[in-house]
Amino acid sequence: MASIEVRKETCVGCGECVPACPFGAITMDDSLAVISDECTLCGACESSCSYGAIIIRTGETGETEIDQYSGILVLAEQRDGTIDHSTLELLGEARRLAEADESSVSVVLLTEEAGDWPAELISYGADTVYLAEDVQLKHFRTEPFSRIVEKLIVEKKPAVVLAAATTTGRDLMPRIAKNLNTGLTADCTELAIDPESGGLLQTRPAFGGNILATIVCSDTRPQMATVRPRVMKAMDPDENRSGAVEKIELSSNDLASRTEVLEFNPIDEAPWI
Ligand code: SF4
Ligand code: SF4
Repeated sequence: MASIEVRKETCVGCGECVPACPFGAITMDDSLAVISDECTLCGACESSCSYGAIIIRTGETGETEIDQYSGILVLAEQRDGTIDHSTLELLGEARRLAEADESSVSVVLLTEEAGDWPAELISYGADTVYLAEDVQLKHFRTEPFSRIVEKLIVEKKPAVVLAAATTTGRDLMPRIAKNLNTGLTADCTELAIDPESGGLLQTRPAFGGNILATIVCSDTRPQMATVRPRVMKAMDPDENRSGAVEKIELSSNDLASRTEVLEFNPIDEAPWI
């Protein structure tokens, strides 16, 4: 199990680590940095300390911990006033996987204003929609989006996290996987549940597409994968499906970002093609 420690004998009380923590988890107490339970072990503070006083020890997710993870979480994408079709494809695939191991499907949506989107996501297969709404979430920005999703994963412990292999998914997923010290398989073309271990079998082309490699993430959780758009099939929407919508409470710290979207100029062709 991963852990974090401030070495009392090395910390000089300079305070430089305090603003480096995106979760507001570090305070100063009598010239010593103190780390609170808000710490997600993201690792951002380690390099901010010029004195090497912050030590993060990484480790595999223990067997007991792995048992605490369940269900599938899909990262929703919205753009141009609609839910991106890749999200609906992922929900269809997540539903199929969830039926194989009798688990649940949730989806996280970050947006300025959701309107009817939660109901749409439920009709396409979600059991629970985690919803973060704020004017600052109108456009994708790496820092707040990854911070909010990462905190949700730490709290809800999904066994599997899926995102589309779009520019957004390819930006978010490696950052989150690194911070959570878990594995990520990019550009999957096929997913399945191993009937013996219950783990996710993640298949993707390798060596220039000459072979298909199936990758498993056996020792850590969550198991994270990006999936190419238009590979999986969305299910037919069922407006009679029921599901829950859970609002994500946001703090100003969650929304903090060093980048600002000045304007948005769409291009004709999708950049992932
Ligand atoms: S940056 Fe390092 S030395 Fe300075 S307060 Fe934080 S832990 Fe202590
Ligand atoms: S590991 Fe991340 S969350 Fe924990 S104290 Fe350091 S910067 Fe903050």
